[in-house]
Amino acid sequence: MIVVMKSGASPEQIQKAKTLMVELGYQPHPIEGLLRTVIGAIGDERGKPEDVEALSILEGVEKVIPILPAHKIASREFKPENTKIKVRDVVVGNNKIPVIAGPCSVESEEQLMEIAHSIKESGATMLRGGAYKPRSSPYTFQGMGIEGLKLLAQAREETGLPIVTEILDPHDLDSVVQYADVLQIGARNSQNYALLKEVGKSKKPVLLKRGMSTTIKEFLMCAEYILAEGNEDVMLCERGIRTFETATRNTFDLNAIPVLKEKTHLPVIADPSHGTGYWQYVTPMTLAAIAAGADGVIIEVHNNPEVAVSDGGQSLKPHKFKALMEKASAVAKAIGREL
Ligand code: PEP
Ligand code: MN
Repeated sequence: MIVVMKSGASPEQIQKAKTLMVELGYQPHPIEGLLRTVIGAIGDERGKPEDVEALSILEGVEKVIPILPAHKIASREFKPENTKIKVRDVVVGNNKIPVIAGPCSVESEEQLMEIAHSIKESGATMLRGGAYKPRSSPYTFQGMGIEGLKLLAQAREETGLPIVTEILDPHDLDSVVQYADVLQIGARNSQNYALLKEVGKSKKPVLLKRGMSTTIKEFLMCAEYILAEGNEDVMLCERGIRTFETATRNTFDLNAIPVLKEKTHLPVIADPSHGTGYWQYVTPMTLAAIAAGADGVIIEVHNNPEVAVSDGGQSLKPHKFKALMEKASAVAKAIGREL
């Protein structure tokens, strides 16, 4: 159930609505919008008709919507305005489209600094790089761990770029939170509810990737786990799904972008690197994602992809990334946005 207050409802009227919700056994979760306050009820099924009635007649209440709670806080009904997320000096969810770029894995100081400086020069807004890697095989490179986090912090120091890095295990949360500006939840952990709850408690912005076989509805429920813990800063990342197609690593679900933009107020980030799995397809799908309404993109860039320890085949060389930035900037301009 969602209680929509009238625009201009007084703080006392909002408080009265919250108090009545508690008395009726609901846990109120208010969101102050630009025009009005909306209060979601957590922990309920569809609001009981008599409760909907009792709340609708309160002064200052415009309407009560008895929606199913599956992904209430993430829904547009709950919050019509786009969510804007501040990551240091970058705002995600604005007209300006942030470009997150960097290697799949942090491999060495030399590798990371070279890539960080080159993407910065080309106009990237954040640096990505995995220090903890969720590899499909346990025998492949698992990431540099803390040393990798330290290198990311050094790269931020040198370039000013905020860092996005993956959290794999709730046990690492304290250390990752110390270094990261954005916590990435990978596709393989998209439905790891214990991890989602922990990052929800952390209050750090989260980049939540879509699971390989997660429907859009399930994806929104994954986000809801984070939001329900009180962390409102969730970016949703479309990174391709598993289909019968084998010509590409995944099938980048371009449809998901406008669908998500309709269903949720959360910013949508596109990952054409994992979405396609081949560097040749990354630029065209980046352009398509921006044209489709993505609020940001995340691109793998490597200075020496041939010897990358992970995802070299889908990583752009720095000069190719520079060319991508120019094309992407033109597409953004064509739809009234900017990079
Ligand atoms: C990554 O970003 O390098 C990564 C492992 O992504 P995903 O979880 O989408 O596979
Ligand atoms: Mn990768």
